[in-house]
Amino acid sequence: MTLHNPLHNLIANLRTRIGHAVDHAGAVASRQPLVAATVLLAAGIALGAGARTGVGFAQVTMLQAHAAEQQEQLVAVQRQAQQEINALAARVGELQAQANRLNALGERLAHVGKFDDGEFDFQAPVGVGGEGPVRDMPSAELRASLDQLDTQFDASGAQLSVLESLLFNQKLDREAMPSRTPIAGSYITSRFGRRADPFGRGSQYHRGIDFHANTGDPVLAVGSGVVSYAGVRSGYGKVVEIDHGNGYVTRYAHNSGLLVHVGDLVRAGQQVARAGSTGRSTGAHVHFEVWDRGRVVDPRKFL
Ligand SMILES: [Zn+2]
Repeated sequence: MTLHNPLHNLIANLRTRIGHAVDHAGAVASRQPLVAATVLLAAGIALGAGARTGVGFAQVTMLQAHAAEQQEQLVAVQRQAQQEINALAARVGELQAQANRLNALGERLAHVGKFDDGEFDFQAPVGVGGEGPVRDMPSAELRASLDQLDTQFDASGAQLSVLESLLFNQKLDREAMPSRTPIAGSYITSRFGRRADPFGRGSQYHRGIDFHANTGDPVLAVGSGVVSYAGVRSGYGKVVEIDHGNGYVTRYAHNSGLLVHVGDLVRAGQQVARAGSTGRSTGAHVHFEVWDRGRVVDPRKFL
């Protein structure tokens, strides 16, 4: 799946940024005892010197003020680091949502492909997120969540790749092949190939089959697939195109209304439009085309 690699890169990117934030916070924290020891040591020396010279007290006060200032800076840096970690935790939540969408798509594909439940597991446990009270998230927990998410994307991506190849393999999924008529209880009014132009302008090459229909009749997908076009095309009027994978695309023209959008997954026999007479048409009918790897073919061999 094309989704797979960008998500991977995103996770790798997040991991690097979290590494930097955590390393920075760790370095600041580990300096803290050193700063305190240095201040104490300096104070001790100053006191000792003060006992001899009589000017130590002012120096101790100055050192204490300096130490307090450093402490404030330290707290500010730690707060900033924690804010960055919290922001990254929120990003993990967004990734989780994307993972859920990916899983939902996988389930729909598995449904269309009629695979047994359990053969492909799209119900992997979810690691982070939720509606609980907001709290600081320890960096170790965040790293573990990212690892888990990474594994989950790995699994989902691999399963979707397998599903995709199985779904669009014509031997394993006959449903994806154009194999039924686009309109129920109808008959062919015009065949594929050279014919007289219905507008009386000589002969023309008819690139599909015309089925008799009444305006408003349900136009049905002849096989499972993904809607690759839904809109108006010159001559075709309101038209739907479905990509069935394996190089096959079907086209349903002259509709009065469209019921699907680009990207919709449709099943064989699902209504995708209402018949009509839009575009270059002399009356209500369904003009149906089948394309095989970019070349228009006679639909009859599929029906
Ligand atoms: Zn036609």
